[in-house]
Amino acid sequence: MRGTKFFGRGLLGAFCIVMLSMALVGCSLIREAQFVGMTGGGSADTATSSSNIESGQETAVFADADPSEAKQEAGTAVHPSEQGGGKLLPPPSKPKNDTNEKKDTKSRPHVALTFDDGPDHKYTEQILDILKEYDVKATFFLVGTQVKKYPEIAKRIVDEGHALGNHSWSHADLTKLSAKDVAQQIDKTQQIIKQATGVSPRLMRAPYGALSKSVLETIHKADMKHVAWTVDTKDWAGTSVSDMYKNVMSNTRKDGIILMHSFGGRKDALDHTVKLLPKIIKDLQKDGYDLVTVDEMIDSGDYKTSAIK
Ligand SMILES: [Zn+2]
Repeated sequence: MRGTKFFGRGLLGAFCIVMLSMALVGCSLIREAQFVGMTGGGSADTATSSSNIESGQETAVFADADPSEAKQEAGTAVHPSEQGGGKLLPPPSKPKNDTNEKKDTKSRPHVALTFDDGPDHKYTEQILDILKEYDVKATFFLVGTQVKKYPEIAKRIVDEGHALGNHSWSHADLTKLSAKDVAQQIDKTQQIIKQATGVSPRLMRAPYGALSKSVLETIHKADMKHVAWTVDTKDWAGTSVSDMYKNVMSNTRKDGIILMHSFGGRKDALDHTVKLLPKIIKDLQKDGYDLVTVDEMIDSGDYKTSAIK
């Protein structure tokens, strides 16, 4: 009798183990399927981000727009099933993202956040507060006349570890000026930035991105590089937060440069930039990007030569 009972229990136990292992393998497969979907380049992330956005209102939706959560889970799900060849293995005892985190930091692709037309005493400060809160460094392309008005904000940008670029003295279309006048626009702005912050930028962004061969030559003569962008938020025009979010999340790639503004544009337009910023910081980081300054991007030797010349 005892033997039968024992045998019966043994059978039950074995049955439970088989069922449990099937369930585990099933879970892993499903998670892996998600993972493959998520990592199929930018387009998969785009689809996820867009569907998150479109399914609700701006503010409510952003908080939960979290494609990377699936990614992280998938990462941990992969190792037991793959190594065990479908055998029953104990659940991973490490914290969820322990192994992934290490892998990611090594090859984290860079993205740079850039803000044009400041400094000012309104939006530039709000943007700096957000960047400080998230401990993220960005690049500010400053206009000379604005630095003259708000030298203390220019100084704050540098003090808080951000990079500076020159965005001309008067936000002129440089392609319409003589080489001599272009040189003057650059030089005068370099001087006031140096005076206000102690820093001489080595980056230049022509207003409106308007660049000619001659303007580029003048920039190079000043021993500077011209920095364009890969994603234009069109924040100055009052573009909605959700449209900008979708644009940024679906069009950002490795070595991407995102264009925003810290001054100017249509009335209250940059309120949207301030709302957008924490969301893209969080979600770009969750998507595995390292947010760096343009200077860091150049120093790493890894940047898009179509955007930085
Ligand atoms: Zn500008």
